[in-house]
Amino acid sequence: MLPYELKVLDELVSINTDSVKKCGYEECASLISERMSEIGLKVEVFDPIEIAGDGKKRPNVIGTLDLDADKTLGLVTHYDVVPPGEGWKRDPFRLTIEGERAYGRGSADDKSAIAASIGALSCIGERGKYNVKLIASPDEEVGGRWGIGYVMNGLNLKLDCGVVVDAMPDMVGIGASGIVQGGVVVRGIQGHAGYPHRADNPIPKLAALMKEFEVFRALRERKLSKIDAPPGSPKKKLWGRFSFTMVGGGEKENVIPSNAWARFDMRILPDEPIAEAESELINFFGTVRGSLDIDAEMRITQEDGGFLTSPDHPFVESFLNATSSVFGSPLPVGASLGGDDGKFLASRGIPVVSYGAIAEDTHFHGTDEFVYIRDLMHLRDVLVQLIR
Ligand SMILES: [Zn+2]
Repeated sequence: MLPYELKVLDELVSINTDSVKKCGYEECASLISERMSEIGLKVEVFDPIEIAGDGKKRPNVIGTLDLDADKTLGLVTHYDVVPPGEGWKRDPFRLTIEGERAYGRGSADDKSAIAASIGALSCIGERGKYNVKLIASPDEEVGGRWGIGYVMNGLNLKLDCGVVVDAMPDMVGIGASGIVQGGVVVRGIQGHAGYPHRADNPIPKLAALMKEFEVFRALRERKLSKIDAPPGSPKKKLWGRFSFTMVGGGEKENVIPSNAWARFDMRILPDEPIAEAESELINFFGTVRGSLDIDAEMRITQEDGGFLTSPDHPFVESFLNATSSVFGSPLPVGASLGGDDGKFLASRGIPVVSYGAIAEDTHFHGTDEFVYIRDLMHLRDVLVQLIR
């Protein structure tokens, strides 16, 4: 017989909740509501349909467990998944158990979190250190604006601390890198490729500029956070990153274009002021432009500061104690290399950690995604220890 958590996970995985098509949202939300009610949570559903403006239903389910505590803990999960893609060896929408693994789209990211949280809350009892609000949102995979973003900013949900249950099982995340994105354009003079002497080709100039930026990339790589990087990273401490991610220019082989462009993504340290990193970037660009003597322009189009919950915060301590009870010693603390929905809580001053059952090798977002059954159970146990 399957443990309760796997049974719930099986039901969740059976509903395709593709975040691109936005299918299955209502069906999945009502299943979650039902499972929450059954274990005694007070369930509320909030759908931003009136303000989202595209007529699509996006039910956010919030189940409350009142344990007569002074503080309220939020458990943040999401029930949408990325599309299955091609090449699965198993049915993506049926939970297939093979040995230690349970396969299916969302089995790890992030339906494992919902199953483990419901499992944990079903066995807490009457009292605990926190009242709990279990939040199951849609649209996480497409930015979360009408999911957890709506719950935190639109509904103004009051929480004293939070766990983003959408992360790795071998680290307690307490922060994430900030992001600066933008582009550079190099201008030349358009002309016939048979008469290059009458044109001024911006493409080699862009290539030269990008080559110079290798120096900047190396410079950023030497910036180290005081917080550790995730286990298995090439550096012990979280480090700065700069990558060109898109490049383009021109429309036809026989036309020298008037401009060429590249776009970049820079990840800054969680404990680094975003303005400082940006002015480093702008100054470097200015110097290179001068030394190459090119007509070029840079623009920052998107910026998002990182966040960091202090490793000394009592909530982080409580969470580490919970991992200690389950694993015998506390898990390492670090900050994530990619994005983290903790930002939605941190921006409201709520201490937040991220933790989950999405191990690095579980093919999340890939084909034949799976969750290790032991990670699912450990996640449930850590949550029980935290709350009880
Ligand atoms: Zn996720």
